[in-house]
Amino acid sequence: MKNTLLALCCLIIFSCAQGQITEQVDFTRQDTLRGSITPERSWWDLTYYHLDLSVMPDEKYISGKTSVYYKVLDNSKELQIDLQSPLKITSAIQNGQSLDIRHDGNAHFISLKDKQEIGKVYSVDVFYKGNPKEAVRAPWDGGFSWKKDKNGNHFIATSCQGLGASVWWPNKDHMYDEVDSMLISVTNPKELTNISNGRLRSKKENNDGTVTSHWFVNNPINNYGVNVNIADYVHFSEVYEGEKGPLDLDYFILSYNLEKAQEHFTDAPKMMKAFEHWFGPYPFYEDGFKLVEVPYLGMEHQSSVTYGNQYKKGYLGRDLSGTGWGLKFDFLIIHESGHEWFANNITYKDIADMWIHEGFTNYSENLFLDYYHGKEAASEYVIGTRKGIKNDKPIIGYYNVNKEGSGDMYPKGGNMLHTLRQLIENDEKWRQILRGLNETFYHQTVTTQQIENYISEQSGIDLTAFFNQYLRDIRIPTLEYEIKNGALKFRWTEIVNGFDMPIQVTIDNKEQWLFPKNKWQSIPIKNSTFKIDEDFYIRHKQI
Ligand SMILES: [Zn+2]
Repeated sequence: MKNTLLALCCLIIFSCAQGQITEQVDFTRQDTLRGSITPERSWWDLTYYHLDLSVMPDEKYISGKTSVYYKVLDNSKELQIDLQSPLKITSAIQNGQSLDIRHDGNAHFISLKDKQEIGKVYSVDVFYKGNPKEAVRAPWDGGFSWKKDKNGNHFIATSCQGLGASVWWPNKDHMYDEVDSMLISVTNPKELTNISNGRLRSKKENNDGTVTSHWFVNNPINNYGVNVNIADYVHFSEVYEGEKGPLDLDYFILSYNLEKAQEHFTDAPKMMKAFEHWFGPYPFYEDGFKLVEVPYLGMEHQSSVTYGNQYKKGYLGRDLSGTGWGLKFDFLIIHESGHEWFANNITYKDIADMWIHEGFTNYSENLFLDYYHGKEAASEYVIGTRKGIKNDKPIIGYYNVNKEGSGDMYPKGGNMLHTLRQLIENDEKWRQILRGLNETFYHQTVTTQQIENYISEQSGIDLTAFFNQYLRDIRIPTLEYEIKNGALKFRWTEIVNGFDMPIQVTIDNKEQWLFPKNKWQSIPIKNSTFKIDEDFYIRHKQI
């Protein structure tokens, strides 16, 4: 069947006050196959994966299969499965019949023989093998990290956000569709232990010097959240009394780090307490919560958050805010675990909307501080992170081509939400909105529009222009003002259509709201003292 998808070549132009910035972005046919809901994806809905994988560390080689279970939604076509080179699909089998596969780069189109009845569930076994791409700068590039610990033991982990889980296992590699549950079976040398997502269901030694562990994830899980971590692990645990009852917190670390971890991981229950307060119950009680040591910085793998921050406070010992507050907690534990709510519970459908993961999770860092050190400390922290904002590109990326937006989605996203908290001017209402998001979109994949609409509805404020300004434009709203002859003249510049955000200011020692528009307005001022509340992420210019 002829595929009608064409390669995209986009010329993206957006304007700013300094002139026009033009960014030429070329996307390939492969980007479209990877990033869009193709006709070969849309007719079926994932229900379950069984990933069954053998890992041979000495050879840096893997082989296995994914059993893909799906419900038929519409008239069947070819079935698209993704797997990235140099890994190879060796066969695809349904009901004992070997199926033809048409390969198009990293997309593989399977021709099914059986009739696919709408409403029924089928499965196809996709076998594969090879030397997977090795991660060079995990977790930013992704693939397999084949490292050694200080004792010379293998220390192996996978990471794949952005690049896609198809870098190490065959799957439907688009974020819009998630399985309802998943079994991950991993076979590795018996002297090593594999830790994956969810709970260990069983473990069995084989006759050939290997061991197979079966990990069951009893919840929807996104592709990049799935992981394999193989090392000489030791284990300790505790039970956290949470909002939904007792929650297992399990820690898997290298043996020589046990003492350090026992002291350092006290940030984990503290995190759980603060985030359950702000965001609602931990979203995966059935699967427990784990921190798993890995040979790279860390990643938000669902219910098995991976950790490589070297048992230091801050981000590898650094405070990203420059205020000192960032050294009060282990950045990786707080940030990656914050993703359990925003990334794993509420997941973007398209990576263009990645701010839903990183904006809220950046923001969660200051909510953690707020819970333990108060509102002022939290404000100082989030304001401090503004130095990392570049305003180079919009936060929202390009849809349907697997392309995220600017790295500003972290600090600018966090500061946008901090600004929003000021606008809502009611901390309890704001907390209920954050909890409401996690309840309303529980275990779902979403678009930015759904999140924007929900916050507008719940706050009672039309935030259309607000989100357009901060998410889709690079300009920072700028308050121009002049104090002359007993009057304060003011207006917004550098704004999108319809932007009229009020701000809190102090005029003549009195705190009050100011309602600037794009046209000049004027109010009386006596002693010329005028101060703008720093909590609002804006610029100001006296003329
Ligand atoms: Zn993150």
